[in-house]
Amino acid sequence: ATLPYDDTNIFARILRGEIPANTVYEDDHALAFHDINPQAPIHILVIPKGSYVSWDDFSAKADDATIAGFVRAVGHVARENGLVAPGYRLLANIGGHGHQEVPHLHVHLFGGRQFGAMLP
Ligand code: 5GP
Repeated sequence: ATLPYDDTNIFARILRGEIPANTVYEDDHALAFHDINPQAPIHILVIPKGSYVSWDDFSAKADDATIAGFVRAVGHVARENGLVAPGYRLLANIGGHGHQEVPHLHVHLFGGRQFGAMLP
């Protein structure tokens, strides 16, 4: 079950400009910024601008143009940050078992080092 969206979450505050973020990319659909506690030499978060709790909420409720815009933004950020040639990792944590801490959909882009077979 998807929780109701809580617009006091930290990424909602970043989207409203209430707290700063180290932004690397922004367009109509997405905002990308460096993770405050990086787990790799490059650790960027990409979030949709709309109020979606998680991947489930987003994939069920967002319109096609919004989904396409977000997916393209994630790819753009990977390319613009030099992640594509060496390779990188794309991850979304979802809900309790997924250890999602911030209830606004975000995908993690990890790069700049070799990863193992499992998680960072
Ligand atoms: P989750 O576990 O929900 O997938 O990941 C949440 C991520 O958000 C963590 O990697 C954490 O370091 C990052 N994070 C939490 N608060 C902030 C913040 O205020 N600014 C930024 N840039 N990242 C944050």
